[in-house]
Amino acid sequence: MSKNADIAALFNQYVINTYTPSVTLVRGQGCKVWDADGMVYLDFTAGIAVQNTGHAHPRVVQAVCDQMATLNHCSNLFYTANQALLAQRLASLSGLDGKCFFCNSGAEANEAMIKLARLWGHEEGRFEIIAMRLSFHGRTLATCAATGQSKIQKGFDPLPLGFAFAEYNDIESVRAQLNERTVAVMLEPVQGEGGVLPADHAFLKDLRQLCDEKNLLLLFDEVQCGMGRTGTWFAWQQAGVKPDAFTLAKALASGVPMGALVAAPKVADVFQPGRHASTFGGNPLACAAALATIDVIESEKLLARAAEAGTLFREGLAQFVEKFDQLLEVRGTGLMVGLVMDVPAKALVDKCREMGLLCCTAGESVVRFLPPLTVKDDELEEALDMLDDALDMLYGEDADAGGEAPADDAPSA
Ligand SMILES: *Cc1c(COP(=O)(O)O)cnc(C)c1O
Repeated sequence: MSKNADIAALFNQYVINTYTPSVTLVRGQGCKVWDADGMVYLDFTAGIAVQNTGHAHPRVVQAVCDQMATLNHCSNLFYTANQALLAQRLASLSGLDGKCFFCNSGAEANEAMIKLARLWGHEEGRFEIIAMRLSFHGRTLATCAATGQSKIQKGFDPLPLGFAFAEYNDIESVRAQLNERTVAVMLEPVQGEGGVLPADHAFLKDLRQLCDEKNLLLLFDEVQCGMGRTGTWFAWQQAGVKPDAFTLAKALASGVPMGALVAAPKVADVFQPGRHASTFGGNPLACAAALATIDVIESEKLLARAAEAGTLFREGLAQFVEKFDQLLEVRGTGLMVGLVMDVPAKALVDKCREMGLLCCTAGESVVRFLPPLTVKDDELEEALDMLDDALDMLYGEDADAGGEAPADDAPSA
């Protein structure tokens, strides 16, 4: 048996089955990862938009090792310089000049943002948050309740109340959900899990205006699209619209688990001592990783690189859309890229992996590409070549429908 299969068997016996993993990865470097049997892959999942600086970036590794050996955790009963410095960086990179709260994941960051909005509206009896259909905000009960996908909510009733849903990119459908209890509008500036769908800038501007008019908070979930992924630090910066608060996680600390809530001055002092907390949140180790991540993105000019590489990659993908009927459209911004299909996307993801390219799905019929922002031109080309071959095998003239092995009597094309 292969090592991949041995580890998979052990894993499946003892790990609760919430995912369906494919191969066993043992090592990563830059855009490449290796599996337990020595096969090398181009990693265009980057840990689901986590490894924006690439696997094992030496500056991140050094910062984490140094901090681990100095003071990795001491709780929030004490001040630490790293947390202050990171909050200062995020306040200034976002231009919100507000304050941050740190936690350990995207769901937790969104949970904090939801609690912040409720506390802000509490005295006026306002608590309802308008979220979007096909959104994804996490797997805690409140963030499931804020997620506009029934497959994620099913079976977990009763979910927390206080969420209404509107259509993404449709301001009238947001207006239709307004009532005297409404306190905020919450959305991803680029929907990730829902299918790599960017918000129209006009929609975000209209939302800002609506929120100002009705005294509502505008809340952005930048957990997936933030930290340079789309070519700016935060995707909302491209629309020229400022939120009242937004969340970060995935790429924030290059794989050291970390989430953050960034709040504009208007709501930066809503939480007072005792109203919200996290044991691990913002510990010196995670903050050191995040500070190093920000330094790498800045010094290696990865924002510009994400924009440039994204354009190149999407141009390459667009050629396949012309060539294969199963492909409908290329979507996304920067290096958050979706290939929309009119068949289930899983077969293509599986075939790409066999060829040595890791990508993932977003919803049923979108293939999602999230390479590290450090990806080189030749790696983009290599990925496009593998994808071309995979598409040919599955959907080319000589391919059988669906990619199954042809039956013995299959007619040759
Ligand atoms: C991944 C994701 C989350 C949840 O993050 P976790 O760290 O898995 O809790 C929330 N919102 C968006 C947009 C995400 O992509």
